[in-house]
Amino acid sequence: MADPQKRLEQIIRVLKDKGCRLTPQRLAMLRILSKSEGHPSAEQIYEQIRADYPTTSLATIYKTLSLLKDMDEVLELNFAGMGSRYDGNKPYPHPHVICTKCGQILDPEFPAMAELTQVMAQQTGYEITHHQLNFFGLCPKCQKGGQSV
Ligand SMILES: [Zn+2]
Ligand SMILES: [Zn+2]
Repeated sequence: MADPQKRLEQIIRVLKDKGCRLTPQRLAMLRILSKSEGHPSAEQIYEQIRADYPTTSLATIYKTLSLLKDMDEVLELNFAGMGSRYDGNKPYPHPHVICTKCGQILDPEFPAMAELTQVMAQQTGYEITHHQLNFFGLCPKCQKGGQSV
């Protein structure tokens, strides 16, 4: 995981460079995204922001997400039946491990990914631009037959 504080500063810098407004709501959202714990959905971000800023709308959340997506500062993940989930901590392609029961999504470190990408490029002559590598299963909590979140 990248240092959330550093990611927050990076995203703020990019937004400022583009002349984007940094409202308190937007800053609160960036703080959540720079961590992206468990890879939140737009609704989950909305719920967290609304606790402190009751006037925030879901549309505002989506607007900021699409802005950040356009600037490659957030990665959007799509899984069948789960809707979109977001990662602003690592806004570039990386492997994910997904719990099919509670929907938690983790980013295990996988240093061999760069090497794997190179092998794919060498074998095909392709210039690889991105990739998707997903592992599905049950998280430790759900294995215990636990309470779904
Ligand atoms: Zn789970
Ligand atoms: Zn991720």
